[in-house]
Amino acid sequence: MIRSYRVCLCSWLACVALGGCVSNEPWPSELNYHETQILLRWEPVATNDDMNSVLSLVHGKVRRSYQILQELVLVEIDLDFISIEKARSKLAEQGQFVRYAEHNYFVRSLDTPNDEFYSRQWNMENTGGDVGPFPGLIGADIQAEDGWDLFTGNAEFVIAVIDSGVQLDHPDLECNIWVNDGETLDGTDTDENGYRDDIRGWDFVMRDNHPDDPEGHGTHVAGIIGAIGDNGMGVAGVNWNCKLMPLRFIGSGRGLISDAIAALEYAVLKGVRVSCNSWGDDDYSQALEDAIFEAGERDHIFVTSAGNRQKNIDVEPVYPASLNLENIITVASVDHRDELAPKSNWGEVSVDIAAPGVYVLSTSNDSDYQVLSGTSMAAAHVAGVVAMLMAHRPKMTAMEVREKVLASARDVGLGSFIQTGGVVSLLEALK
Ligand code: CA
Repeated sequence: MIRSYRVCLCSWLACVALGGCVSNEPWPSELNYHETQILLRWEPVATNDDMNSVLSLVHGKVRRSYQILQELVLVEIDLDFISIEKARSKLAEQGQFVRYAEHNYFVRSLDTPNDEFYSRQWNMENTGGDVGPFPGLIGADIQAEDGWDLFTGNAEFVIAVIDSGVQLDHPDLECNIWVNDGETLDGTDTDENGYRDDIRGWDFVMRDNHPDDPEGHGTHVAGIIGAIGDNGMGVAGVNWNCKLMPLRFIGSGRGLISDAIAALEYAVLKGVRVSCNSWGDDDYSQALEDAIFEAGERDHIFVTSAGNRQKNIDVEPVYPASLNLENIITVASVDHRDELAPKSNWGEVSVDIAAPGVYVLSTSNDSDYQVLSGTSMAAAHVAGVVAMLMAHRPKMTAMEVREKVLASARDVGLGSFIQTGGVVSLLEALK
């Protein structure tokens, strides 16, 4: 039943559906950004005429705009006239009207390949049994069982899973998948949010209303946050009851910043107060930072992974993990002995808290279960705890919830690696 999982990062067949194209397109392996698109933010003084004359310099066309950042646009460049690199620098030079122009970078899922082990959910309640090759440590977990004595979640509370999709009909998830009450399946955009028939989230890769998960990564993350609890089957998520909003922007292990921003915007405009973002990469994007900041202005906590390259991200940043924003929680990974996972990134300033991320058992696609490792899994635990506290104490602001979750970390002596030095605790957060 339990399968090992490998993300093939050497596959460059990204399925990116923009401009009406929904087929797999091969991308040149040397580019870490979209070969025809630029993210551009206008200065507020720019008039329509100014914008048109700036865009004409690079033969650019606006492909999409955004609601939470009204001056941000995604521009399609005609490569018959100018290279993407020249187009970006030419746009950036128009400083009177252009605040910034940047490449539309790719980001990646942050998990690591795993051997096959059955771990019996040590992350929730560690009884000291063997996990992988080494015995566990009793109590090296997120204190979930004691936390569940206090609260098991609110079936109406929504958590955005911004990832590779979620298997919508997984038997251990299906009842906890969000349903858009404002939308009806009639071929129109009933709730006028820009997405037609989006009854269960959106697929920003295929541009359709079926954010299923061909890869298994998002389904695994979703199961940690909110697999149905106490149903006599499979695994239990941190939230036994909740609503998981699947927003798919990662295909074949990677996705575009423009789609990540669109997914975050989708969640925020639906009033969602927490998202799980188990992805990132080395390239900085001002547009992504601006979008996460705007989400924070709307009482939203953005939980993200520190990454798995065994490095200090205060010195060698990973984005969005290293961004210095008040509404981000960046998560490192610990193992079943309360030790920093061998591959986990760290950073006393950038990384806030740790959570289980080694041999974590959760749901996978094909209605199955699998064991995965990585800071992706760690971030999902923290997103789950944030959601539990928000659902339990609906009057607390996002900032108050963030402070409580960080202050209630179980100290495991990792203070030289991460800000709180501790592992997230469901029990202490709820107390
Ligand atoms: Ca809609």
